[in-house]
Amino acid sequence: MQFEDVKNARDYIVYSQGMHSYSKAITKMMDLYLSYVPYVERAHQEGKKAIFCSALYPTTWEAPLLYALDTIPYATGEIGRLSDFRVMQIAEDYYQFPIETCSMVKCLVGQWHIRKDDPGAVKRILGVSSGCEPFNMAWETMKMQGFDVHNPDVIYRAKGVDGERLENLIKFFIRQLYRTIEWVSGSREFDEEKLRLEIQRKNRLLEKMRKVLELRLKRPYYIRSLPTILILNSGVANYFARPEEFEATLDLLIEELENIPVDEEENKKVIPLLWVGTTAQEFGIYEAIDQAGGALLGFRSSPNKLFREDVPPLEAIAYYLYDNQRAGAEIYMRRFLDEELGRINARGMILYGIIGCSYNSVEREMHRNYFHQKGIPSINLEGAFQLGGPTGQVLTRVKAFTEMLS
Ligand code: SF4
Repeated sequence: MQFEDVKNARDYIVYSQGMHSYSKAITKMMDLYLSYVPYVERAHQEGKKAIFCSALYPTTWEAPLLYALDTIPYATGEIGRLSDFRVMQIAEDYYQFPIETCSMVKCLVGQWHIRKDDPGAVKRILGVSSGCEPFNMAWETMKMQGFDVHNPDVIYRAKGVDGERLENLIKFFIRQLYRTIEWVSGSREFDEEKLRLEIQRKNRLLEKMRKVLELRLKRPYYIRSLPTILILNSGVANYFARPEEFEATLDLLIEELENIPVDEEENKKVIPLLWVGTTAQEFGIYEAIDQAGGALLGFRSSPNKLFREDVPPLEAIAYYLYDNQRAGAEIYMRRFLDEELGRINARGMILYGIIGCSYNSVEREMHRNYFHQKGIPSINLEGAFQLGGPTGQVLTRVKAFTEMLS
């Protein structure tokens, strides 16, 4: 496929596959990504359990727990890329969501609505009480439409919560996890050994992804920005519903990266960038970065902590929740972002959020001010969640920003 023929998100993946035809691992990864949603839906129709959840970030905890309960994590965000403005309009017109509600929530509501009368569709949603207000509204709405929704209580760990207070939080969340297990499987009993193995698998995947990101520093153009963010944010979060295949492909990717020579001359031309935000559904943004000579080498979601393996597995999940880089308010992310900027020797950062997300727009402004004072250039982008290419204005801004840093 030629770049001129690219019209939508799927085309970008196919085009990207063509660009990476030298790599078996990347081609396979993109096949796994493209087939993730149909695979989950088919598996569910054939009798496997699947549950919608937020497994769309490598540092989420749902995948090990659900896989240990023989359930496929169905990442809600992945149905967003099947949506267009008509799906969003269901949320606005049928459910009367205010027009300014974030497009992610409206897309999901529209997608769930389409499935609500389909007897073969996945109808169970695992949320978290600490989700934003629009998301809570979506879950409540879907409950009224007959979906089975479960929201464990997740409390933010504020700064200074250590010692006994932290232990109490851990105990509280373990109780929530027992309730979740009961909701998923009908019993509080679970196979502890199986969960331990899933936690070990998750740790292996986090370490292997970390290795991929390290190897990319010297071979930045081998995997371009789009496949990298999809493998990191989606693959390591939900394993594309095929854990063994995903891990084997990650191993192959490491092997390929280790065996290609480093091109020092080419590396001098690279503009290393840090991506701070969720995965943009407008895949053209990544292409614009690449075309301007940039490379997304650092991410807000780069894994930097593993699950503990020295405690019982449920405890390990609870510790991970309260101790990873996403724990607490966004302000605590700064230290991690500082480290990530240093790790990749970044020349700039791209702050990205979804249109209509008031929470994230505040965070982005805070980050922008903080890093601006430290002399780190940044660009603040907002994108839509539904299908459709990025606007020309966004692409021009991304290209101009990247070229400015060269
Ligand atoms: S993008 Fe913002 S408003 Fe939308 S679901 Fe996420 S946190 Fe909520």
